[in-house]
Amino acid sequence: MDLLNTLVDKGLRRELPTREEALAVLATSDDDLLDVVAAAGKVRRHWFGRRVKLNYLVNLKSGLCPEDCSYCSQRLGSTAGILKYTWLKPDEASQAAAAGLAGGAKRVCLVASGRGPTDRDVARVSDTIKAIKEQNEDVEVCACLGLLSDGQAERLREAGADAYNHNLNTSEGTYADITTTHTYADRVDTVRKAHAAGLSACSGLIAGMGESDEDLVDVVFSLRELDPDSVPVNFLIPFEGTPLAKEWNLTPQRCLRILAMVRFVCPDVEVRIAGGREVHLRTMQPLALHLANSIFLGDYLTSEGQAGKADLEMIADAGFEVEGADQVTLPEHRAGGGCGSHESAGCGSREGGGACGSSAPSPSSEPRSDLVAVRRRGAGTDLAPNA
Ligand code: SF4
Repeated sequence: MDLLNTLVDKGLRRELPTREEALAVLATSDDDLLDVVAAAGKVRRHWFGRRVKLNYLVNLKSGLCPEDCSYCSQRLGSTAGILKYTWLKPDEASQAAAAGLAGGAKRVCLVASGRGPTDRDVARVSDTIKAIKEQNEDVEVCACLGLLSDGQAERLREAGADAYNHNLNTSEGTYADITTTHTYADRVDTVRKAHAAGLSACSGLIAGMGESDEDLVDVVFSLRELDPDSVPVNFLIPFEGTPLAKEWNLTPQRCLRILAMVRFVCPDVEVRIAGGREVHLRTMQPLALHLANSIFLGDYLTSEGQAGKADLEMIADAGFEVEGADQVTLPEHRAGGGCGSHESAGCGSREGGGACGSSAPSPSSEPRSDLVAVRRRGAGTDLAPNA
């Protein structure tokens, strides 16, 4: 297919595809799907070989958020039966992180619900970062604490954070439909603050919220412009008790097309499959490793992922290898520091959801709420974490 040859050539040259080309990837037929995966896989292998980076989420503070992001189980008014707890102590967070690192993760993503941190929260997270780094010298730490005020990114950097995650989530044009308590511009501003402080920026999207193909292309092109080092792709998890509970729009094929489009538009960036991987890709997860070079190990913020052991087996069975602490994630031209980008690499997921996102969502995807298990183990509980 001419389209795919063109996209591979552009991906190897880091040249931006046209919007029409990106839209055409989303519009390919199921008959062409393996060709699409093979083409985007060439770009992925060119920049990242067969390595898969593992990231581990630690939910420092769960639920009780005053913001109204419709996709989020921790939002204001959510009746999802998630774990709710306030800040973990540094040693509790360090213990949770240790489980993920022992399981093979090289990055720990410290996430807290809320609009953004107070200065006291930043001090608390700084202590947590130090506690984790004392125990694990080589670990990359990414913070994900919401909207940042002036000076907070610099303080996190000084405390040893390598990266900061803040997702754009959806296009500028649809942002007000999913959240009213903050704006798209607020989100862009925080990503820029992280960049400016020398943190590796991590920013991605959530697919499957009823957005159009054009919206998906818009947000991915905006991400390319912002130039984060890592782009988490969440597939909406339609939690019961949230406004998007009925948005079961995604099929595994659709998820693969979205990941391929992201790879073509952001060829040399860490593309991470984030929330919703198991729920929406299901048995097609191994194919997605040909597109993304990074996943989360174990559980998500408020829902359970597949067993960490199953993730590791899947990676090996599909012919990929877990990226070691001694390997730099990003290609040389992006790698500046420890975890490899302008300065390092980036974290990123909240609790995303699935991906369908065409203006006419496919009716072939039946609700599968049986696949969504609220997290009941790990951080904030007395039970061992999944890693
Ligand atoms: S995504 Fe973050 S800011 Fe929005 S409701 Fe959830 S925890 Fe709050």
